[in-house]
Amino acid sequence: MALTGIQIYKLLPQTNCKDCGYPTCLAFAMKLAAKQEEPEKCPHLSDEAKDTLMAAARPPVQLVALKSDGYQAQAGGETVMHRHEKRFFNKPGLLLRVYDSEPADAIKAKVAEAEAFVVDYVGMDLVVDGFVVQADGGDFAAAVSAVRASSKRPLVLAGAPEALKAGLAQLGEDETPMLCCANADNWEAMAALAKAHHAALAVEAGTVDDMVALVQKVEGAGVESVVLAPKQRTMHGMVIANTVIRRMALKKNFRPFGYPILSFPGDVGDPDREAALAATAIAKYGGFIVLDHFDPAAWYPLLVMRENLYTDPQKPIQVTAGPVRDQQPRPRRPGADDDQLQHHVLRRRQRG
Ligand code: SF4
Repeated sequence: MALTGIQIYKLLPQTNCKDCGYPTCLAFAMKLAAKQEEPEKCPHLSDEAKDTLMAAARPPVQLVALKSDGYQAQAGGETVMHRHEKRFFNKPGLLLRVYDSEPADAIKAKVAEAEAFVVDYVGMDLVVDGFVVQADGGDFAAAVSAVRASSKRPLVLAGAPEALKAGLAQLGEDETPMLCCANADNWEAMAALAKAHHAALAVEAGTVDDMVALVQKVEGAGVESVVLAPKQRTMHGMVIANTVIRRMALKKNFRPFGYPILSFPGDVGDPDREAALAATAIAKYGGFIVLDHFDPAAWYPLLVMRENLYTDPQKPIQVTAGPVRDQQPRPRRPGADDDQLQHHVLRRRQRG
């Protein structure tokens, strides 16, 4: 629970020694209350006061970042249920999934196509944030290696612990992937893997009680970056599950639900329903969103929608007047023409 400035002041030594860089303890307390300073800046805190302040300073939804080779996809850190209350901060990562049962060349081609996709939207480059490698009875290590041949973006590795172990061996030591998903049967092995590789760990459950029990188990095993993966796959189920999780984290400060949410629109199979579910997940608290199909005509509006939801509503999107920015040709997928996007839109209209 957030503390007021006066509550924080009562925990400080109240000597006004200025070692924190502020003239008085009260001034420092006010900065802590506004989350503009860290408790460690006061070297004279008792251990008990430090623990209390650190717990209070923890955001209601923990930030979880997937990293690799300078790329980063991060989610969490949100403080409000609705954008108009303040703003949303960390836009959800949109991730494209491949299966280890696909031929390596097909995986490479699919990832390369998504990797090359860049849309210039009012001065911002909209891109695919990362990839998911799903164990599906094939050679998991080879599939991870095939993805890495086409992209260095962050990865989610999904499957049983043995498969994930082989996949993790293909990654660089400085990468922070996500492992998916711990459940009631495998959580000990998954938690051990996540700890050993400093990975985020997604936990999957179908009910509130099961989710809470799993989160507490993996937290107790020492996993620091947790992601919540509700089992619900329908639009109705996903909206309810995501809303309950976010509401309990923000309004009740319920710590087991204070993590980003992983959603799987790709599980529905149909590309159009997948896009509709992905849009719903963006609007309703999704933190990492997994799609199976890559079609620019679907990804472009999803990325634009995400951008518009996660900008500050008090600061309209603007471009600074000045010279046209560098228009170096961007990598295009083979066969793409200048009307690529329009072509995809028309094709989908004709299909529908
Ligand atoms: S360092 Fe600590 S005791 Fe000294 S002024 Fe700052 S808050 Fe007060």
